[in-house]
Amino acid sequence: MTTKPKTFFVRTYGCQMNELDSEIMVGQLEKRGLKRVHDESEGDVLLFNTCSIRDLAERKVMGKIGQIGRSKKKQIIGITGCMAMAKKESLFRKLPNVDFVIGTNNITDLDLILDQVIETGEKQIKTDDQFEENLNYLVAKRDDKYKAHVSIIRGCDKFCTYCVVPYTRGQEVSRPPEDIERECRLLAEQGYKEITLLGQNVNSYGKDKPEWRELFHDLLYRLDNIEGIERIRFMTSHPIDITVDLMQAIRDLPSLCEFVHFPIQAGSNRILKKMHRIYTKEQYFEKVALLKEIVPNVALGTDIIVGFPTETEEEFEETLEVFRQIRYSVAFLYTYSPRKGTPAMRWKDDIPEQIKEERLQRLMALHESLCAEERQELLGKEVEVLVERRNRDGQLKGRTRCWKKVIFPGEESLIGTLQTVKLHSFNHQTLIGEVIPK
Ligand code: SF4
Repeated sequence: MTTKPKTFFVRTYGCQMNELDSEIMVGQLEKRGLKRVHDESEGDVLLFNTCSIRDLAERKVMGKIGQIGRSKKKQIIGITGCMAMAKKESLFRKLPNVDFVIGTNNITDLDLILDQVIETGEKQIKTDDQFEENLNYLVAKRDDKYKAHVSIIRGCDKFCTYCVVPYTRGQEVSRPPEDIERECRLLAEQGYKEITLLGQNVNSYGKDKPEWRELFHDLLYRLDNIEGIERIRFMTSHPIDITVDLMQAIRDLPSLCEFVHFPIQAGSNRILKKMHRIYTKEQYFEKVALLKEIVPNVALGTDIIVGFPTETEEEFEETLEVFRQIRYSVAFLYTYSPRKGTPAMRWKDDIPEQIKEERLQRLMALHESLCAEERQELLGKEVEVLVERRNRDGQLKGRTRCWKKVIFPGEESLIGTLQTVKLHSFNHQTLIGEVIPK
């Protein structure tokens, strides 16, 4: 029998879904009386909630846990998240100091697995392919006081050829709307002002449960009624599932922010087909045009993979052209890295790293110059900011409805409130302004 642990340490890698899963696991561990520590050397239980989306993310985790293996202190080490799903038992061979492995669909089993490790001293693993719907989201222990992530759908059925998510998180399972509403009402009572609805593809919400007769836009209308929740965001979307009903909800619902993550991934139809993105560039542009017609002040975000197998210079230039035309406010830009178990692994990763990197730099430079123009256009305008905290220089800091960072001087009492700020300048990507008194 292993000594009963008193403390735990959690490190999260990857996306907001992982952050939320960590918050749920932190809640479970605190409920069983363990104290959270922020220095891993002080933790009796170390939890690494991992990401498999990129090779680099995996190597970071392997390196980190390998290092801990060389320390003298006996700690219970667990790997959760996407790497747990992708690598399963092989993690015990590669990292002999790991005591348990829990997949993305089993985080609710953390208590039980930990008990088994403590009682038997033996390694434990649980990595079900399918998500159990009875996950208790209400135990989530959030660090943030005003903004909360709320899961509405887990998994993905799209099977883009480069992506591990359908294999690591399983097929789409929507969460009952009443449960989501209950959690959001509780968050409002606790003083939360902004919720971000999370899913690999939130726009698929409800399609797996036709008997509920509640799709994504219906859910938004339901949540917009909650008193105290001033802002609703959602993350992330597949362009094919962005509907006119959703666009109208963004126009009509006061709490729904005018920001849509609308990831095109590449600008060439041949590459989009190879990625199995199931839309053409023309269809994508049509949807963006319709969205801008219905919500003229909408801001858009995207994800891009450069250097996908066989991508030519001309095809990459089509991606640059998409940026010039759409003028995204936010972009997450990556070079392609093959992931084990995905269809794209069958193809040769034939674009040299140096060319991938050079394309990435050109795209980043273009995006930054377009964003600088956008920031310039915002000067003199008034924007709504949810004030989150002070920065290191003592300025108040928050974000606009369209996800822009803003700083301004002001009293402590403004933290956690919505303020109107007039913008006068910017420093790198941060807008600077003054509060307009109410
Ligand atoms: S839609 Fe997103 S999560 Fe689903 S397979 Fe494609 S890239 Fe992965």
